[in-house]
Amino acid sequence: MTTNTEVQTYLNYINGEWKASDTGKTSESLNPSNSEEVLGKFQMSSANDLDEAVSAASAAQKKWRKLSGKERGDFLFKVADVLESKTEYVAEAMTKEMGKTFAEAKGETARGVAILRYYAGEGMRPVGDVIPSTDSEALMFTTRTPLGVVGVITPWNFPVAIPIWKMAPALIYGNAVVLKPASDTAVTAARVVECFAEAGLPEGVLNMVTGSGSVIGQGLAEHPGVNGITFTGSNTVGKQIGRAALDRGIKYQLEMGGKNPVIVADDAELDLAVNATISGGLKSTGQKCTATSRVIVQKGIYDKFKERLLEKVAEITVGNGMENSSWMGPVASENQLDNVLSYVKIGKEEGAKLLYGGNRVSEEETKNGYFVEPTVFEDVTPDMRIAREEIFGPVLALMKVDTIEEALELANDSEYGLSASIFTTNIGNMLGFIDDMEAGLVRVNAESAGVELQAPFGGMKQSSSHSREQGRAAIEFFTSIKTVFVKK
Ligand code: NAP
Ligand code: MG
Repeated sequence: MTTNTEVQTYLNYINGEWKASDTGKTSESLNPSNSEEVLGKFQMSSANDLDEAVSAASAAQKKWRKLSGKERGDFLFKVADVLESKTEYVAEAMTKEMGKTFAEAKGETARGVAILRYYAGEGMRPVGDVIPSTDSEALMFTTRTPLGVVGVITPWNFPVAIPIWKMAPALIYGNAVVLKPASDTAVTAARVVECFAEAGLPEGVLNMVTGSGSVIGQGLAEHPGVNGITFTGSNTVGKQIGRAALDRGIKYQLEMGGKNPVIVADDAELDLAVNATISGGLKSTGQKCTATSRVIVQKGIYDKFKERLLEKVAEITVGNGMENSSWMGPVASENQLDNVLSYVKIGKEEGAKLLYGGNRVSEEETKNGYFVEPTVFEDVTPDMRIAREEIFGPVLALMKVDTIEEALELANDSEYGLSASIFTTNIGNMLGFIDDMEAGLVRVNAESAGVELQAPFGGMKQSSSHSREQGRAAIEFFTSIKTVFVKK
């Protein structure tokens, strides 16, 4: 069935050793550009493997937390250097495993390096406040303490950046980690963990166990040895994890879906709005949680915007992400392909007008790949499923409105609230949007999909558990505050 002659088997990483699962079972990771190519095999682990990883983490954390922040930071600086030196090795796995273009994959790996360096520096920054006591002979201050063992459950769409933006802050603040990566990108995850291993991180501080979400993911959330759980992925799974964590009284953090709008005002700069809508909506094949999905356009600019957008969409080259000529790679899996195509069908049945795309790309050389055309609908109404549900693919839904007030109302008419953009040159429009848009990330004259590692990231409404990741905000989840009172 496979065209590869040699397929590497990737192992779990437990207590500083690469180990096969006691189940003896593996699963294959496939290339979405050519589903006959097997990238590697990974362990289908059991609850026993997970127990072993949690015990190792628990033992290691007791020493790890006693190191100074600088000492922990020095390890992260080393991991950053190793990852930087292996950029192509890691990025190639990413492109071949989930499809995003090699340029994007290298960019994401560079971001991983930058995140590691940012959090390495956090080891030297203040962690608390001195608070004046009413007792003149006392010193009162806050300090922070790590949670203990943190379970990290990650999706396939940013298989390097997301694990790192969770693991790096977990580690710098003195926690040990058990990572359960997405099965669709288990090989990329193993290559990231290799960098931590090569940098000489003490054994047990970081562990990785691969396997099914329901066994290893749910197992982590329910494990009595796990003291905190951080998750990025779908709403259904996130809620389950949240419930399990709540039952055990542990801290949890969920980053989930989005249905991100852009508003294009009559006074917008047309080319900027068009280019940012395309980039925000279709880069990474529309599979970013912050991807633009609803495009709400004021009537005065609507026809010009639509015309220019369609011209530009027609120029998009779809193909294998390892080829320089490809602007858009495949969707990440057969599941994703089925999902996107089913939403195209739903959109048509609901009465939206398909302006462009909507099909699987089926030229001879791409026949084993999960390639779909960039897709644009218009006449999308707010009650349609394609206006309400996350599609997670290269599909844009155009909606025409009379006024900016109407645009904002539509933009907020969603259960999600992750990111949102407005394109306008009017300061009143900008300020109104910043004030009234219900999203964790609001962007003016910039695409919905930009995230900077030094700034807080997270959603409102159903998009998150209302915590924030990245930047200084990460300390809030990965530590507990301890208030200290010392009397002379
Ligand atoms: P997913 O199906 O929820 O999977 C996410 C992770 O959870 C994977 O590691 C998965 O393992 C695991 N998992 C699956 N079932 C589980 C269970 N019953 N208990 C515990 N863990 C379980 O999501 P996905 O399809 O990988 O990712 C796409 C979703 O992520 C989209 O909804 C997207 O919006 C969201 N996302 C959000 C953000 C954000 O920051 N807000 C960022 C990126 C993506 P397996 O792979 O083995 O199934
Ligand atoms: Mg795959």
